[in-house]
Amino acid sequence: INVLVVGNGGREHALVHSLYTSPLVNHIYVAPGNGGTQNSYSNVSNVPIGYSPKDFPALVAFAKEKDIQLVIPGPEQPLVDGISTFFKKNGISVFGPSAKASLMEGSKTFSKDFMARHSIPTADFQNFNNYELAKNYLLKNSEKNFVIKASGIAAGKGVLIPTNTQEALDAVKQIMVDKEFGHAGDEVVIEEFLQGDELSILCLCDGYTIIDLPPAQDHKRIGDGDQGLNTGGMGAYAPAPLATPALLAKIRSTILKPTIDGMRKDGYPMIGCLFVGIMVSPSGEPKVLEYNVRFGDPETQTILPLIKSDLLEILYAAAEGRLDSVEVNIEKAFSTTVVMAAGGYPESYTKNDEITISKPLPENTFIFHAGTSILPNSTKLVTSGGRVIASTAIASTLEDSVKMAYVGVDHVSFKNKYNRTDIAYRAFKQQQS
Ligand code: ATP
Repeated sequence: INVLVVGNGGREHALVHSLYTSPLVNHIYVAPGNGGTQNSYSNVSNVPIGYSPKDFPALVAFAKEKDIQLVIPGPEQPLVDGISTFFKKNGISVFGPSAKASLMEGSKTFSKDFMARHSIPTADFQNFNNYELAKNYLLKNSEKNFVIKASGIAAGKGVLIPTNTQEALDAVKQIMVDKEFGHAGDEVVIEEFLQGDELSILCLCDGYTIIDLPPAQDHKRIGDGDQGLNTGGMGAYAPAPLATPALLAKIRSTILKPTIDGMRKDGYPMIGCLFVGIMVSPSGEPKVLEYNVRFGDPETQTILPLIKSDLLEILYAAAEGRLDSVEVNIEKAFSTTVVMAAGGYPESYTKNDEITISKPLPENTFIFHAGTSILPNSTKLVTSGGRVIASTAIASTLEDSVKMAYVGVDHVSFKNKYNRTDIAYRAFKQQQS
């Protein structure tokens, strides 16, 4: 079949890398793709079409012309904007949820109400669409520690963690009055601050069946030891030893199953990748921090190389509502991803710096491009974004997968390359204690 992957990040490159060898695949198109998807594979091509709503008609016309049978949208925004329904109306299968189901990510007030309705464990919360009411609530509960969240999509920046009531009041003002995140701040969630360790659980869903992939832990902060500014994600590893079989069983029964059943019963079944951000309390209780309705980045670069089965067969089956008919075999190994960013990211950084990758890479080590492009009429690979490229390695121990991922990092050079040097440190700390 012909496949259209939508997006241009490391996640999309990792998807393409896991799909292109499928016996089912004829050709994969990536709109718009990046330097890694442009000419590394003989059966993959970039298509210069974007993915904002104004591009949807052009994407559908392209899909019809090329006889695309499966579309895999990568990022959240086109899903929230309704890309799935757009293709489905034209008879094309999509591995991705409807606009309504995408509200589980696109509106935090919606997802918190969903969790309350279906008794899914999450931080205690109140939703507000009125600044004065939100302010009074904070003043009345000044002894508590809160997290303040703009309800809409705010590029991962809409979550503020104040350390006292004044900062909490400032945060609500920033979101609701100063409109720092635009309409994303029309509503806020004020929720209880949770202590613990975070886990990312990515699940493949067809509305009924849910298959969870190896649990991962990512690294959102720019600096070693989780210091400094938040980023899109600087690295990940899986499976996280924190997720014991007992904890995973609890997550499946108290969170994953009620979520997929609740979404279906509410009339917006989850078809696609449900990504659940979970906080595990020091006593081992999992609570949902957030839902995403798409593959995570960089978790996807970490997890997909561990799937031994044909990914295309799985995603196609999920899109067509027959996920129970396929088997998903996972390699018993560890995977680690280290993201390399342009120096200065997540603040200002330079672009168009030449990238060189020395080959051959060691066995079981992969390079996934994100912010890269190939200059027109040339073969020169240059940087074109903040998170530039990532190295993933698989090994039988977590220690070795980390070591090899950093060997992969050494194979990549560009000006002011920056990466964290401590990916998976929490797992090692846990092992020592
Ligand atoms: P993402 O970039 O993953 O999409 P987001 O902006 O949608 O994130 P959340 O995942 O809800 O927002 O929150 C971002 C981060 O803030 C979490 O990964 C977690 O570290 C922290 N956080 C969120 N809610 C809480 C909470 N209730 N208690 C403690 N920390 C929290």
